[in-house]
Amino acid sequence: MNTNKHNDTSHIDITHIRNFSIVAHIDHGKSTISDRILELTHTVDERDLDAQMLDSMDIERERGITIKSNAVRVEYTADDGDVYQFNLIDTPGHVDFTYEVSRSLAACEGAVLVVDATQGVEAQTVSNATLAMNANLDIVPAINKIDLPSAHPLEVKQEIEDELAIDSADAVLVSGKTGEGIHDLLESIVYTISAPTTTPGAPLKALILDSYFDEYRGVIATVRVIDGFITAGQNLHMMAVGDDFLCDGVGCKRPCEVALDSLYAGEVGYVITGLKDPAAVKTGDTITWLDNPTAKPCDGYHEVKPMVYTGLFPTDTKYYENLRDALEKLKVNDPSLTWSAETSIALGFGFRVGFLGLLHMEVVKERLEREFNLDLIATAPSVNYHVYTTDHTMRSITSPQDLPDVTSIDRIEEPYLTAKVIVPPAYCGAVMQLVIDHRGITGDMVYLTQKSVELHFDIPLAELILDFFDQLKSRTKGYASLDYEIDGYRPSQLVKLNILLAGDEVDALSCIVHKDKAYPMARALCDKLKEIIPQQLFEVPIQGAIGSKIISRSTVRARRKDVLAKCYGGDISRKRKLLEKQKEGKKRMKSIGSVEVPQEAFLAVLKVGDE
Ligand code: GDP
Ligand code: MG
Repeated sequence: MNTNKHNDTSHIDITHIRNFSIVAHIDHGKSTISDRILELTHTVDERDLDAQMLDSMDIERERGITIKSNAVRVEYTADDGDVYQFNLIDTPGHVDFTYEVSRSLAACEGAVLVVDATQGVEAQTVSNATLAMNANLDIVPAINKIDLPSAHPLEVKQEIEDELAIDSADAVLVSGKTGEGIHDLLESIVYTISAPTTTPGAPLKALILDSYFDEYRGVIATVRVIDGFITAGQNLHMMAVGDDFLCDGVGCKRPCEVALDSLYAGEVGYVITGLKDPAAVKTGDTITWLDNPTAKPCDGYHEVKPMVYTGLFPTDTKYYENLRDALEKLKVNDPSLTWSAETSIALGFGFRVGFLGLLHMEVVKERLEREFNLDLIATAPSVNYHVYTTDHTMRSITSPQDLPDVTSIDRIEEPYLTAKVIVPPAYCGAVMQLVIDHRGITGDMVYLTQKSVELHFDIPLAELILDFFDQLKSRTKGYASLDYEIDGYRPSQLVKLNILLAGDEVDALSCIVHKDKAYPMARALCDKLKEIIPQQLFEVPIQGAIGSKIISRSTVRARRKDVLAKCYGGDISRKRKLLEKQKEGKKRMKSIGSVEVPQEAFLAVLKVGDE
């Protein structure tokens, strides 16, 4: 049967479709505005409306951040009396997830650029606006949080004009909290954002913008249909990967899945592929008809490169295969993930996994633990070093363990970033000091307005991933915003710092540090580990060493084993509780030689600055 012919004309006219993303700096109100749009268009019943409807993952809700883009379809009856179909894509704001934003933008004709009326333009506002302009999107500026007494919408309007070169005459003033102005925003979307265009009669061409793995239905792909249409039962073909499949069904999200007969040109929705191999579906690929394929696939996405690497090990080595399986399935939903096998003497078999940043790393570890029921140990994050050896070869390493012997190293180069911070002038001094403390090189300083300065600087990526961002926030009372990009490799005096527990070197605790920072780092790490490692039956010396030279030392004193010693006589249930607690504690421990080490010890290097 040829199902590629369709007579159904009931679907909405393409001129009445609006596809747009909502972009903004983190916390400016994207998710809240999306909620109001769902409410005002009666997509979700008011009594079912939960805060942050589109943040469906637990981690997103707990942390109040958006990690994944989400596409929902809403129907809006405009003031002109016509019904419009909006496909709205909420996007993450954190710099780690910029690639998610650019993927979403590729599926849209427009973007709503949200700017907080109390904060004004921030670093990610600039980078998101640039992404949207480069993608040739129609931009609707929206100034949010006008309900707050500290809002200064007129100044923010001027900032949008001056700093972003976006015409802000028609900027919509809104409050995601009270709903004020949201109706105007919807009208502005109808008039400002272009309808999608298509070539009538052309064969199916659909861009995969995202996908996820479902144990029962296989891979489900979120697509934007450019030409043609998709119906259940069609024989389809993935152009880059080369797989064929029978479409098991299509639909859209509002925000729960709603099955539909077809997805038409201009629309966004999901396609159930039935494919059970996670590697069979690739984000950025083009879906077409098997027996009447499109001549030209979509442009696809450029590959993103990881910035940070860490070792991920199951606490119990027998779950190694489960971890591999989980990584493969998670990659369907997070195409930026990369990994290779890694073995540690201390932790056994695991993987060296690449991430887009520290937040991404935390999120992935948490998703692996929650969604796949794994118990994992992460080792200190590292960047990708280029090691030039005396025999004139270059080795690219992402783990301190792979660093060759010092005697054979000619030089080591590390990745640098060019970064910019936008901050009120009063904090410039504090930011510059912070940059210098982190081996950064300060550059230009540009007054954007009287109230905001843009500082440019170069900084090693390795410094940025430790505690730079937290310190930036605290030293500027939260006012500073940061954006950065990789800017090549530069030579640095780097050494490998080893940690010895009870005299034995623990490979999973080593890290690569700058020569000048090795001593303070070794001391701080030994002290931190002393706090983290519980007392054992014997004394445990903790030593920091460079090569064979010990440069710092602390000691975990011995203790007596009997946890019940404190409960003389007394209540049996209390004793049981204590024993349970001890057992619980044991589960999260890893035995390294004769020493029991808690999981968090392996990330101690990240906590060195904490009190
Ligand atoms: P996102 O990171 O851009 O998705 O921002 P969210 O939608 O999560 O909002 C960040 C914070 O600002 C949340 O605490 C919201 O409750 C709050 N918020 C969002 N919009 C408004 C608004 O219009 N007025 C006020 N007062 N608070 C808002
Ligand atoms: Mg959000």
